[in-house]
Amino acid sequence: MMNKNFILSLDGVPYSLLQRMIEQNIMPNLKHLVESSYLKPMNSVLPPVSSSAWASFMTGKHPVEHGIMGFLERDPKTMDWAVPGHNDLLSETILTKLSRAGKRVFTMNVPLTYPPPEINGIAICGFLGSDILKGTYPKEVGCFLKDNGYWIDADIELGKRDLKQFVYHLYQVMDKRFEMMWHFWQQEPWDFFMVHIMETDRLHHFLWEYMENGDSVFSELFFDLYRKIDIQIGKIFDILPNDTNLVLLSDHGFTTLKKEVYLNRWLWKNDFLKFRNPNPKNLQDVHPNSKAYALYPGRIYLNVFGREKIGTVRPGVEYNGIINELKSQLFKLSDPDTMQPIVKEILTGAELVTLQKKDNIMLAAEKTLANHIPDLLIIPHKGYDFKGQLWNHTIFDKTDFTGTHTFDDAFILSKNRKIPDCLNSISDVRSCLLEI
Ligand SMILES: [Zn+2]
Repeated sequence: MMNKNFILSLDGVPYSLLQRMIEQNIMPNLKHLVESSYLKPMNSVLPPVSSSAWASFMTGKHPVEHGIMGFLERDPKTMDWAVPGHNDLLSETILTKLSRAGKRVFTMNVPLTYPPPEINGIAICGFLGSDILKGTYPKEVGCFLKDNGYWIDADIELGKRDLKQFVYHLYQVMDKRFEMMWHFWQQEPWDFFMVHIMETDRLHHFLWEYMENGDSVFSELFFDLYRKIDIQIGKIFDILPNDTNLVLLSDHGFTTLKKEVYLNRWLWKNDFLKFRNPNPKNLQDVHPNSKAYALYPGRIYLNVFGREKIGTVRPGVEYNGIINELKSQLFKLSDPDTMQPIVKEILTGAELVTLQKKDNIMLAAEKTLANHIPDLLIIPHKGYDFKGQLWNHTIFDKTDFTGTHTFDDAFILSKNRKIPDCLNSISDVRSCLLEI
């Protein structure tokens, strides 16, 4: 039995922040909604990045199963970077499954929906899509959005130049998204209607610390974005048809960024990574004598003979030796200012597969790790972010970002349907709550 769903997904909104905004009456409509709904904190996935987590929402699988471990992957055979898209998912999404069942589906701005799937309805891509005309199905929807001044994503570079203007820009991008949402909502009675708000994540990356510190200017600008969202929640509450469940959810939590940690710089400094030339630009510049290299977030890949184009590390004794050496050295990594340890946990690829196997499915990955599965995944303590840039002038850095993701403290709200106990992470939403 499939019910109709109206899903408003809010990227990177913590359960604890919602509670605070309800208490402080910043979101009165949300407060009203919560009084007649089910609300629960939940976990993200590993690694807790938007691409992986929303792919988990759409497929009901963990990242090792659906294949998306970040917003940039690499092909070891060519050593080229690639932005993963909808076609790279290893399991079917809720969107195409419902379409095949004849349901009418609308999806707007959800990560990993580029290139747009040809669904029974309308698909509008999210932030990994670059061109709105190529990012919609059917195509004429893209023309309509373009004519109406729709943005796929806010201009992140503006946030680095002028923070105040950036926040106003975020309001504008989000207002337009909601305006277009209402346009499409009124077109027909949809079976599955999902709109994704990315602006919350963007806001948090730049303004989280200002909010936490109660900055007189930026903290109000921060909450004003939520006041706008609250008005929309009130409108949705008012128009929601009886046969439609409203689901609000986020994909990860947020915390103040203590430091960015440039893992490739650390690997280079400790002789695990070598470059063919100074100022390396891409993975083509990695020297064959390298033992390992890293991708965002905290993913280490060994330069494995037979897998990597330039691979020289022999599977077996040599591979295991490097894994152990990396683990012991990384656990010693500490914040140079506080001397606090940075690494909370390190999982090998095989451990990650065991942890993320949902239904005891024998994955091919168990014998030889599938290409997308990292040889090591580093899980930092709260506030540290393991970056993937190939080259940085230093291991530890703080740039324009003041907030970073957490694995815990995401949330789910369901208006009509009780949230079952089996739902503990975003990868459980599809099977436990939506039953699709
Ligand atoms: Zn983010």
